[in-house]
Formats: sequence, structure tokens, C-alpha cells
Amino acid sequence: MAQNGTPENGVAEDIPALPAPVTAQEIRHTKIFIGNEWLSSSSGRTFPTFNPATGVKICDVEEADKTDVDKAVQAAKAAQQRSSPWRRMDASSRGRLLHALADLMERDRRLLATLETLDTGKPFLQSFFVDLDGSIKTLRYYAGWADKIHGKSLPVDESFLCLTKHEPVGVCGAIIPWNFPLLMFMWKMAPALSCGNTVVIKPAEQTPLTALHVGSLVKEAGFPPGVVNIVPGFGPTAGAAIASHMDIDKVAFTGSTEVGQLIKQASAKSNLKRVTLELGGKNPCIVFADCDLKLAVEETQKGALYNQGQCCTAASRVFVEESIYEEFVHRSVENAKKIVIGDPLDPQTSHGPQIDRKQFNKIMDLIKSGKEEGAKLQYGGAALGEHSLFIQPTIFSEVKDHMRIAKEEIFGPVQCIFSFKSQQEAIERANSSRYGLVSAVFTASIDRALSVSAALETGTVWINCYNALHVQTPFGGYKMSGNGRELGEYALAEYSEVKAVTIKLRETL
Ligand code: NAD
Repeated sequence: MAQNGTPENGVAEDIPALPAPVTAQEIRHTKIFIGNEWLSSSSGRTFPTFNPATGVKICDVEEADKTDVDKAVQAAKAAQQRSSPWRRMDASSRGRLLHALADLMERDRRLLATLETLDTGKPFLQSFFVDLDGSIKTLRYYAGWADKIHGKSLPVDESFLCLTKHEPVGVCGAIIPWNFPLLMFMWKMAPALSCGNTVVIKPAEQTPLTALHVGSLVKEAGFPPGVVNIVPGFGPTAGAAIASHMDIDKVAFTGSTEVGQLIKQASAKSNLKRVTLELGGKNPCIVFADCDLKLAVEETQKGALYNQGQCCTAASRVFVEESIYEEFVHRSVENAKKIVIGDPLDPQTSHGPQIDRKQFNKIMDLIKSGKEEGAKLQYGGAALGEHSLFIQPTIFSEVKDHMRIAKEEIFGPVQCIFSFKSQQEAIERANSSRYGLVSAVFTASIDRALSVSAALETGTVWINCYNALHVQTPFGGYKMSGNGRELGEYALAEYSEVKAVTIKLRETL
């Protein structure tokens, strides 16, 4: 997930040198954060969080369940009352608070990047330059919007004046995945607060640590109590309590399509809260023979393998025009040999472990199915070490559309390369999926790029690039990849209610 200004997209502006990770890691925040206070769980239960690179437990975290979610919602609801400090605060002051939080994250950037690497196993280089950079930029972008969210005056018929006002939705729940814990937190919290909402956020059970550290920064920045509440816990308990809560007005979810369906059901069966979903993808790239081959090989492979393939945007179906197919596969294998697998805290490392045993087993099963169904294993395909969660970067060629690896979301470091003969065929096969998150086109012809991008059924199309995510650009899926948009101006609509105020004019001049 490159965001502008990071080494990922080669833009060399304001890039700090990579510092060393924080060495003596003292985990300061392991409790539930409600009303700017740190609380133990009502049940007395805790759960462990592990370092996926070593399998060693990092610490125990207080486990929130329905009772704790209720407390968090009460605090968020109180902070949302019309007379509350948060609701009475000037919009520009809300923006200043978001900037203050961004400043504190800049201050603690090295610590937060270290925590993110320890908890997820992602390389420190990526935590520091991509996750932290993107998180801070997201806060600053929405800080800027806070006093620019406004309605219109409308030319209605007869003697009336109609004004629209954009008001906060209320209490917003957020359920976060483990692949980009801090970034997904910011993608949801920053627009919600910019619009004047309050939030109850559940980090993924695998990766609660950076969210909890941010809780301490929220308090330090001076947000009123109850504006941000963080409830670490499990999906079927704390997550489900958010999805079905009668006093939560909107929920934003990123994760699996299956759980996304549960969230919508829970909303329908409770209070019809607004739901935005950012779900899976089986994202196609179409590589035409006239492309810059070196660029296409590098971008599609980075797209497939970035974050150990644990990306909703993973470039998991690469369609290559027949005439350059052999060369493309050969170069992809050569490129993969340069990937440095190792300790994620080592700045040289570009490939870490998978998040947990469940994901590891799912990926290894899909690799096995690829071999059994006749795809050609060109590179990798094995685990590294007997008990570790590391999987070699893996490349399959001669992948056919009916195979499991061509249809299911692998969420692991597996690149699948297909061949095609005609543009029309490539478009039809690319669109033949229940998902529609992102896609990419590689060609030297801008006409072809634009006509193919018009035909692709995805929320994002990248042309001669991949994972080019920017905070200013809306992100979200067609079809079963989700509903609604995050980031950019579009996200503000997801966190606002529009009120039409119509005034009868007695006198017209
Ligand atoms: P998941 O969907 O179960 O978990 C994502 C979040 O949802 C976590 O915070 C989890 O606690 C919560 N959750 C789980 N069950 C819930 C429920 N019943 N109600 C409310 N919240 C609930 O994902 P997973 O099991 O960790 O991974 C399974 C697959 O999901 C992966 O293999 C991958 O395909 C996909 N996934 C996608 C993304 C993404 O970025 N779109 C992120 C993580 C996982």
C-alpha cells in the first residue's frame, strides 16, 4: 500500500532516513480505552498477542466483550450530545485536534512502527514508510477538511429558501483488520472525527497494540473524553456487539466478505445503522505486449507480494498477452529472487511471516491445490522452517480460470500468471469474479488504457502502476468487494447526515 511520498512509488519528497526500530520495547498500553480512561475488562479476561516472526507472546491485552462495548457506546453517546464540549467545539478546533494527534504520531513514529512490526510481522521499512506515513497523512488531510464541510442553498420552487447542512451521523463503530492495523484505524477514525462524530473502534484480535498506543495520544492531544473509545477483543463478541448495537449509528468494516455479510445482517436486524464495507478482492492486472515490460514485471509482483500478499488489493490475477508471456514469467521469477526474507525488524528485510497459523494453513492449502490442479510452480511454494509462519514468495504460471487459486482470495505471497490472446477476452476474464476492488492495465497506449479501464468493473483502476493509493483518492469496491468509499472527499459523505432546512419566505423583493 504505497501512499504518495513514500519510496514505494519513488517520489523522493520529504522522505526521512529510516531510523532503527525501538529496541527495549516496553508495552505501555494493554487496557480498554473508554472516556479517556484505561479500564480492565468487565469479565476479567485477557488475551495474548504474539509476534508472528518468532511465535513469542508479546503481552496480554484486556479482552472487551459486549458489556465493555456498551460502556464505550455510552461514553461515545454522551460525548455526542448537542451540549457536549465536542459538539460545541468550533470546526476549526476539531481540525487543530486532528493535527495535534498527527504531531504526536510523528513524535512516536519510530515506536509505533516498531509496535506495528512486532504485532504484524511486516517489515519495519514498510511499517515506518508506508503505514506510519499513510496514517499521519490521513489525519492531516481530514484535519484540513474539518471546517470545509458545508451544505448548499438550493433554488427551490415558489417562495421558499432551502439550505442543506451536513451534520455528524452520531456514534460510529469501526471494526479493523490485522493486515494494516494503524492505517485502517486512521482511514475510519480521521473522516469520522473531521465530520464531528464520536467513535468506538475494535482493533483485530491479532494486532491491538498500535491502536492502544494511539488511545494514549488521543488523550494527550486533548480530545474530550468519549470522542474516541478503543475496545480490543474478538469478532463474534466485541465485533458483533458493535454491529448489532442499538446506539451505534454507523459501522465501518474492513475484513472478509463473509463477516461483511454478517455485519449487514446485524445492522438490518438491529437499528438499520449505516454500513460501509471494504472487503476482499481477486484483483486482475492486464499486461499488454506494448507495455514497459520491466515496469509491469516489478509493479505486478510488488502488487501480488506486498505485505506477504496480505492485502485486499493483492494483484492476484495477472493476465499477460501471449506474445510476451514466456519472457514475463521468466523475468518475474528473476525478480522474486531479489526478495529478502528475514527478521522484520532488520531494515534489509522485505518479506516477513504470515499473520497466524490459520492464515498460514489456508495459504499452504491453496498452494497445494494449485499444484494438484495443474498450474506450473515456477518459484517458491514452500514454508521456511518447520514451525515458522514464513512462506516463500511463490509464482505459478499456466494458471487457468477454473482453478481454486484463480478464484479464491489467497491472502498470501502467491502470484498467479495467466495468458490471454485478445483484449476483449482479457476484459471478460478480468471481470469474471464476484469481487471488484481494484485492477491495473499496463500498456504504452493511453487510448487502450482508457478504454480498458472503462470496461473494468472495479472501484479503482491503476494504469502503469500498482497500489498507488492516495489519501485524496476514494477507495472502495464494486460487487462483493464492498459498499461505500473510504478516503478523499467521498468518505465525508459516509460520515455525514444531510439535513434540508426549508424556510417559507413571507416577503420577496
Ligand atoms: P475477519 O473478517 O474475520 O476479521 C476482520 C475483523 O472482523 C477483525 O477485527 C475481527 O475480529 C472482526 N470480526 C470477525 N468476526 C466478526 C463478527 N462475527 N462480527 C463482527 N466482527 C467480526 O478476517 P480473518 O478471519 O482475520 O481473515 C479471513 C480472511 O479475510 C483472510 O484470509 C482474507 O481473505 C480476508 N481479510 C481481508 C482483509 C481486507 O483488508 N479486506 C483483511 C483481513 C482479512
